Amino acid sequence: MISLNNLDPRAPFVLDTRDLGRRPGSQREVTLSAPAPADLGIEVLSVPVDSPVELDLRLEAVMDGVLVTGGAHAALAGECVRCLEPIADEVDVTFQELYMYDDTRDAASLDDEDDDISMLEGDLLDLEPVLRDAVVLALPFQPLCQDDCPGLCPECGARLADDPDHSHDEPIDPRWAGLAGLNDGQD
Ligand SMILES: [Zn+2]
Ligand SMILES: [Zn+2]
Repeated sequence: MISLNNLDPRAPFVLDTRDLGRRPGSQREVTLSAPAPADLGIEVLSVPVDSPVELDLRLEAVMDGVLVTGGAHAALAGECVRCLEPIADEVDVTFQELYMYDDTRDAASLDDEDDDISMLEGDLLDLEPVLRDAVVLALPFQPLCQDDCPGLCPECGARLADDPDHSHDEPIDPRWAGLAGLNDGQD
């Protein structure tokens, strides 16, 4: 049988839907653990490459394709954007995506629309783009080691959370003296 598929059926996030038989209403639960791909997350916080992503999925055949509903759980590693302290966290996401059958589409008309539509390739679907979008959306824009991380001392770079009473007797840069004066005036 000749296949035009680009997807690798052995890839960790590629699922085979053949057993659903394209019968609307037929469904299957899938639980799997797969190694995280690179760049699953944002620059400052992401799922470590090859660490396990736990997936809990329901695949359901509908009229136009296969509806995938599920959730994913994974570890996160990154660093605080204020003080650069390493962050270890976890992320839970849920998602739902309809993968259209590729032989029922009107290829010409679809090409003109956005390519946000997920397509099956034969019986295979690739969960990775959907997972990636869900994870990125779930992450904080600016991850912090703690909600009120005071960051680093602007004068010497010390991590202020480690040293709350941190202070310098004399400003190193004379510009800071001017700022201090302004603050006094406002009080
Ligand atoms: Zn911090
Ligand atoms: Zn300092």
